Amino acid sequence: MRMKNMAQNQTQATAPASKKISTYLTLIVLIVMALAITALFIAAETYLAGDQIAASVLAGIGLIALTMSMFLLLQSRRQSAEVKIEVPKVMTTIECKCGSKTIREFQRGDYVYKDLDIPCPKCPTTRQMITAIYKEVKEKEKTYNV
Ligand SMILES: [Zn+2]
Repeated sequence: MRMKNMAQNQTQATAPASKKISTYLTLIVLIVMALAITALFIAAETYLAGDQIAASVLAGIGLIALTMSMFLLLQSRRQSAEVKIEVPKVMTTIECKCGSKTIREFQRGDYVYKDLDIPCPKCPTTRQMITAIYKEVKEKEKTYNV
């Protein structure tokens, strides 16, 4: 019971808010990237000034921040791509009396037990009928927890 509620909340939260989150994330990542580059520049100046320890610390911070922001950027791109794919398709199953079965995308006006004018590939004289309309559920790929 509790698990079911949690799952519902998750799906409701991810669908509309994901785009906003990814733009915020990109903004933060860009700021971090700018700070990292600044740190690297300051490190170079400090190195030239003669303070090698301070320079190496700054360079280390800059490189780590740069690597992390790059990683986050790639991760968010991948997530937004997954969100785009996640539009559920509605499929229509068409069956003929001879047993031949075809599946196509839902078209306006489709309803179960509707007779179609599309001839059957095996017996063109028989009329086909819609036997099922359903939402295609794809297996979700495992997502990484950041
Ligand atoms: Zn047939």
